Amino acid sequence: MCGIVGYIGKQKATPFIIEGLKRLEYRGYDSAGVAVHQDGSIRVAKKTGRVANLDKETARHNFTGTCGIGHTRWATHGGVTDANAHPHVSSDGKIALVHNGVIENYVSIKKFLTGKGYTFASETDSEVICNLIAYHYDKEPETADSSRLLESVRKTLSHVEGTYGMVVTSEGNSEELVTARKGSPLILGIGKDENIVASDVSAIVARTQNVVYLNDNEIAHITPDNFSITTVDQSSITPVIDTVDWSIENAEMGDHAHFMIKEIFEQPEALENAMRGRFSEDGSTAQFGGLNISANEFRGVERFMFCSCGTGLHACMVTEHLIEMFAHVPVECDYASEFRYRNTPLFRNTLFFVMSQSGETIDTLAALREAKRKGYKVLAVNNVVGSTIAREADGGIYQHAGHEVGVASTKAFTSQLLIGAMLALYIGRMRDLSYGAGVDFVNALKGTPELVRTGLKQASHIQAIAKRFAHYEDMLFLGRMSLFPIALEGALKLKEISYIHAEGYPSAEMKHGPIALISEKCPSVFLAPKGELFNKTVSSMQEIKARKGPVIAVITEGTVLPEGLADEIITIPDCHEAVLPIVASIPMQLLSYYIAVERGCDVDKPRNLAKSVTVE
Ligand code: GLU
Repeated sequence: MCGIVGYIGKQKATPFIIEGLKRLEYRGYDSAGVAVHQDGSIRVAKKTGRVANLDKETARHNFTGTCGIGHTRWATHGGVTDANAHPHVSSDGKIALVHNGVIENYVSIKKFLTGKGYTFASETDSEVICNLIAYHYDKEPETADSSRLLESVRKTLSHVEGTYGMVVTSEGNSEELVTARKGSPLILGIGKDENIVASDVSAIVARTQNVVYLNDNEIAHITPDNFSITTVDQSSITPVIDTVDWSIENAEMGDHAHFMIKEIFEQPEALENAMRGRFSEDGSTAQFGGLNISANEFRGVERFMFCSCGTGLHACMVTEHLIEMFAHVPVECDYASEFRYRNTPLFRNTLFFVMSQSGETIDTLAALREAKRKGYKVLAVNNVVGSTIAREADGGIYQHAGHEVGVASTKAFTSQLLIGAMLALYIGRMRDLSYGAGVDFVNALKGTPELVRTGLKQASHIQAIAKRFAHYEDMLFLGRMSLFPIALEGALKLKEISYIHAEGYPSAEMKHGPIALISEKCPSVFLAPKGELFNKTVSSMQEIKARKGPVIAVITEGTVLPEGLADEIITIPDCHEAVLPIVASIPMQLLSYYIAVERGCDVDKPRNLAKSVTVE
């Protein structure tokens, strides 16, 4: 799930690995470790908690070796303990391994290995494959061409069920690393007299922009000045070296207290980037370069299916609303994790979309594969160029929101909303959305960055509100139509980073159950923009107020609420229906951010969460 960094070259491996693991911290983890070749043996340091703890530990050991592997763990099998942290070393001391993912058949392998005399120092599934590699390594003839480790990994993988990104090294051999992937991302960084392997480019870009994305079922053999890739079943692969288009500055926090607030304030620019070059010359519709599907084919689509997880699903739900509203084509949304098992009946002319900012979310990837297996075309909305989902989709739309580090997604979410709105426009203009309505729509989209800038000016006002509301333990978020998913997102964001229990509901649904929660101890945040449902929402607010529930109302500038109804008011600028969800997201993000800060929470690295969820 979490982070892997391996280094082989002429420099000291440990500082580079620690630095890389720090860059991967944002992905979420609970312990970290390194294994380094030192004076002919493999030395290991591992610690629960932050990479900083590991940093102190390795400083004590003064590791100077130039070949090593490191890991940040997000526990799936076995508690968060030093012993369960990676790297694991085989019980004969010959193999060290770091592993992301889950080995499903580890119980039977463990039984087999126990019978062969191997012992286990941890409760993890990962240590089992480490010992299995050692078992095959022991049987493999010692060869001069250093294929021994590679072949023992290959043999091991033919017995393994589950997902992995792994890097392996063997005792007494600091001139090679072997790495393999299935379902968990791995990237090679190709440097000068050094090579790197990592689960995320942010751990690589400090040294090189030249990368090779490994595909599932591929194994790479890496030396300081060379690398080769084969598949698990021995076919050779001709690697493609890509250039990463961002540098280390993108991963720095600058003057901001947290990545999350930095990224909230980067939204105007992220939105500009999502739109750049994506409007038709006549200014009445959107155009996308990488859909790989003709306008004619698109025109024939009778139903869209959107799959995603978490925040991405909320972006899909807004997109559903906008496509149905502006293009009058039915849309269905589903949790990617449910879709893959649900055996949903699908229409013949259905076009699939998946949304995943990281492009590595395993549930979303599985939904994509299931849809493709059924013979559907799948397009992806994704923020990471070269990610697994981007590569496996038939086509798609890159968000270009820039690297997002904060675990709680902000700019990647609003850029998904923007792309969803552009899709609604594109599809609408193929059907009965008029030229004039298209031009209005385009102008509204172009104005979004400015509207977001206006919204961000409320930051200090929202911070003051946050101070007054930070002590509550329950909160409701209520919105209607396209703002219902934004209410869900507001609640999710608050849960994620402040650990306050929060729920999102359609405003009118509140009286069908959640109203039982209402008291002076449970505030409600209302998304109440002007429009035909404004008065209905005001009635819902009255119902809350009548039960002493505190109210924070988010209303359109210039609208007036009955005296005394809201305890706090946040205004949003008046805007086109298509961009309203983006504009309304800004106060939700700021509110949850400032509440979390007020409660002293670790905003960028919330407990138990990971940025890119690569386990099922
Ligand atoms: N399943 C392994 C463990 O629990 C690896 C988890 C991870 O991806 O970090 O140790």
